[in-house]
Amino acid sequence: MKENNLLIPGPAPVPDAVARAMSSEMFNHRGPRFKKIIEESTAALKEVFQTRGRLYILTSSGTGAMEAAIVNFLSPGERVLSLVNGSFGDRFATIAGVYGAAVERLETPWGQPLDYEALETKLREDVEHTLRAITVVHNESSTGMLNDLERISRVCGDHPALLIVDTVSSMGAVDLPVDRWGIDVCVTGSQKALLLPPGLSFISVSEKAWLAAAEAKMPRYYFDLRKAQEYLEKGQTPFTPALSLCVALREGLQLYFAEGRQNCYARHRRMAAAVRAAAGALGLEPLVKDLQQASPTVTALRAPASIKVDQLREEMRRRFGVEIAGGQGELEGQIFRFGHLGAVTESALLAGIEALELSLQTLGYPVERGRAVAAGKEAIRTGLRPAAGGRK
Ligand code: PLP
Repeated sequence: MKENNLLIPGPAPVPDAVARAMSSEMFNHRGPRFKKIIEESTAALKEVFQTRGRLYILTSSGTGAMEAAIVNFLSPGERVLSLVNGSFGDRFATIAGVYGAAVERLETPWGQPLDYEALETKLREDVEHTLRAITVVHNESSTGMLNDLERISRVCGDHPALLIVDTVSSMGAVDLPVDRWGIDVCVTGSQKALLLPPGLSFISVSEKAWLAAAEAKMPRYYFDLRKAQEYLEKGQTPFTPALSLCVALREGLQLYFAEGRQNCYARHRRMAAAVRAAAGALGLEPLVKDLQQASPTVTALRAPASIKVDQLREEMRRRFGVEIAGGQGELEGQIFRFGHLGAVTESALLAGIEALELSLQTLGYPVERGRAVAAGKEAIRTGLRPAAGGRK
């Protein structure tokens, strides 16, 4: 068993080829080698995002891109509607508030679906179109809920508010057609499904959002996308980029496209199904009950009343080298989370499930040995079957 079987919702493990690329020698970030890297990577990332809009590579964690998604497009005092059903939705609302937006939160309990009807009502009532932006997290990593972005996009219809979306833990692992769904600003991070260590973030911008950027008055310096655009035209970034990560990015994107987008989505769905099947065999309840709304990249399970989450995690780490995550904020102590994204392999996940089974048993929870792993394997096997009616 691996010594560090990383099954948290990011950072995710990275492929060996990516890790090797990270050890590149340093070179001039204002020279032709970097120009080629940034141009090729920007084009490849646009394919991942399914956008023909603008896209910028930033040296920051995902939260930096969230900040960029606010400060570049809004002015203090403008109305922002933040959809919140977890800790990252809350973070988006907080950032907008810190920069002076008039934030209204449309909140539902963490782990519950967003209130799509209330969103529809809010937009319908906004006859003067004073609402300037809607922020939403696609995949709420804190709860394992995949919010229905397609529905949100439909509900937004032709309301002029910008649709600003955090896809930090879904981009690459889930079909996410940015242009088709009318997403104006879309952010993600390098350390989840895109096969890299943490340190880079990516942001796409629609033409509508780009026009708004010209009017936006929120203060910005490091994350000013007008500067990013000016420098991208020369094949550069405004400030020194995380060069090693940029070299690794090209490698990661090659691996990503070698697997193929559809295969990658299917692999993530299989892994989520494996965790849910194993949970079922262990009598554990997923926080998100409806499979349609369950994340393909993160699964949160409720801890049995007799089990302390910290003890369980410690047992899994110490005996098996398996790292899982606990709950955040109000869910701390109540749930634990498996991340199954990026370069996590199905066999690493099954080893994690086995470690869960054995650790629960050690902590006194009744377990029928082997059932959870068998259920996980079966879910992976059936997920591998060609879809009914087709053998293409
Ligand atoms: N949004 C989501 C959905 C996330 O899962 C995370 C990180 O876990 C973030 C934002 C923040 O990203 P970072 O920690 O890279 O700043």
